[in-house]
Amino acid sequence: MELKGFIKTSLIEYPGKIVSVAFVGGCNFRCPFCQNPDLVLNSQSLPSISEKEIIDHLLSKRKWLDGLVISRRPLSGKNYRKVAGIVDEKLFRKVKESVKILSSSNIDYELRTTVVPGLIDQEDVISIARGAEGVRKYVLQQFVPKVTLDKQYEKIEPYSKDKLEEMREKIADYVESCEIRGV
Ligand code: SF4
Repeated sequence: MELKGFIKTSLIEYPGKIVSVAFVGGCNFRCPFCQNPDLVLNSQSLPSISEKEIIDHLLSKRKWLDGLVISRRPLSGKNYRKVAGIVDEKLFRKVKESVKILSSSNIDYELRTTVVPGLIDQEDVISIARGAEGVRKYVLQQFVPKVTLDKQYEKIEPYSKDKLEEMREKIADYVESCEIRGV
């Protein structure tokens, strides 16, 4: 696992906790709205961060830090293959299996969908929530049209807060809790 990015302190990556965040280089997906295009497309040209550097930081700040987030995240759903550019059937099955394993485990987790107008509408959100029925925590994440993998996505107007609230209401029966993030 090659680590290509490191944030020493984050208050948002793990709600309620103060964490450091390490980013794994590369990704099998090609989400056009991705906000880490360099990590996805050019990770080989980025300098690697050593495990020692990260461990040294964690040890030196252990009084204040709650943990380390290792960031590399997909999510399943009816149209997700199309959205993320996944053409490998085996890979898609693995994503679905991961959701199943997490849902039936005691591990603390959340499933997150970045709600991008033109890619994900209310029906898609309902479909994803149905597919992940019973999931303990589901997050509707606001799309931020800045530094996207496909530059065309920087012109897209995000959904309003009211629209995201409406989506949350529609899926309330499928997920144990749903948070709207980034608005
Ligand atoms: S948004 Fe996440 S899953 Fe999609 S390309 Fe970027 S890093 Fe990969």
